[in-house]
Amino acid sequence: MNTNIQSLLRKIPSVDTLLDSSVLKVLSKTYGPDFVTCHIREVLELLRQQIKTGAVTDISNRKTSVMVEAAIRKEAEPSLKNILNLTGTIIHTNLGRAPLPEQAVKAVAQAAAGTNNLEFNLKSGRRGDRDHHLEKLLCRLTGAEAATVVNNNAAALLLVLNTLALRKQVPVSRGELIEIGGSFRIPDIMQRAGCKLIEIGTTNRTHGKDYRAAITDKTAMLLKVHTSNYSIEGFTKSVSEAELSVLAGEFNIPTVVDLGSGTLVDLRKFGLPYEPTAQDAISQGMDLVTFSGDKLLGGPQAGIIIGSKELIQKIKRNPMKRALRVDKMTIAALSSVLQLYLNPAQLVKHIPVLRQLSRTQKEIHSQAKQLLSQCTAPDNAYDLAIEACESQIGSGALPSKSLPSYALTISPRGKKRRGSILKNLNHSLLDLRVPVIGRIHNDALWLDLRCLEDEQLLLTQLKPALKQ
Ligand SMILES: *Cc1c(COP(=O)(O)O)cnc(C)c1O
Repeated sequence: MNTNIQSLLRKIPSVDTLLDSSVLKVLSKTYGPDFVTCHIREVLELLRQQIKTGAVTDISNRKTSVMVEAAIRKEAEPSLKNILNLTGTIIHTNLGRAPLPEQAVKAVAQAAAGTNNLEFNLKSGRRGDRDHHLEKLLCRLTGAEAATVVNNNAAALLLVLNTLALRKQVPVSRGELIEIGGSFRIPDIMQRAGCKLIEIGTTNRTHGKDYRAAITDKTAMLLKVHTSNYSIEGFTKSVSEAELSVLAGEFNIPTVVDLGSGTLVDLRKFGLPYEPTAQDAISQGMDLVTFSGDKLLGGPQAGIIIGSKELIQKIKRNPMKRALRVDKMTIAALSSVLQLYLNPAQLVKHIPVLRQLSRTQKEIHSQAKQLLSQCTAPDNAYDLAIEACESQIGSGALPSKSLPSYALTISPRGKKRRGSILKNLNHSLLDLRVPVIGRIHNDALWLDLRCLEDEQLLLTQLKPALKQ
């Protein structure tokens, strides 16, 4: 072996020497000596390799301890980080969907920090029901007789199917056999729930007579699924909730609708197309309605089931309910969000999803101008501009409706290697303390400002990144 390499290898500090360095002593106190020692060993092994390949030509105790410190800090960082969602999709499943209202955040912290009456009746001093904390509010807001809440809407549908239709048949329109993404497909979930899917109608048209023809003595219920992430346009026909309810009544079988996103407010108030509300589905005669807590409702991840008392009772008695139930933090958050719905006039102010949904293009434009004036600098490596763009609601709500918005666009100044410069910029924004997530489009990085509520946070991070 080359004598230079040998002398470098001899200079590698020992584990004990490093453990004794001032910086690693501090880290040992925080993370424990075992964790620090593991990292020292890994860094020393890496150094040996790099010396042998010639990648490292200089070594010191100080440098080595700094390397170990960096490795420890990187691993000790939480993996789940808050990010700035500037993708233009408001409810983004990959980005944690709905941010909670302030009130709900406080409620979660409080519930998490203490013990509470989650399943304890403070009047009788006996065991209580965790649904009790939400049921009354849900019924008041939707007009339903009863309600229960589970982990998410996928769980809600699974539980409803398994409770009402185990080893029985469920007719569903071919136009509603959806895949939501993340392998949630109606036919698969029905199979796992133990029921038999009876496909009826065609992709674009399903009639009342199709349901009628499919009903046998094995039919457990009639199911409607809101086609949330796509729309069929043109020569189409589907059977309304009201019509389905009358038909099911004739045969004395229950009706169920999976609303997907589900909302408690009429989106036409915000200038958007009509999206069926949970209370409409109840008033149109649906026996059970399921929807998500963290889509348009703007709350925590949850699956809400509302409807007839008798059916909700059956659902609560299904042993699977125990496996799909929500925890105290979800209950605290959801209860706080539902409280807000009691006062519709204040909703936009308090619920981030609705606030972002209802921002006008004009408001976003003035925010963009403000930001641009503070970001533009002669030593930037990039040109900045304001461009009109289209935001989306996301998570399957109103898929064919986009919301006019504005983006701050960032494009490389030079003409060469623009693609790779943009990619690098994108990576450096993902590497920030609070990562900034935009999208590359038309030779520029687009930051849709619709969901930006903390301009200072973006500015303090973006300014240094633009100089590189
Ligand atoms: C989103 C969605 C689901 C799944 O809801 P999660 O809360 O994500 O589990 C189910 N059905 C429809 C129609 C949906 O849009």
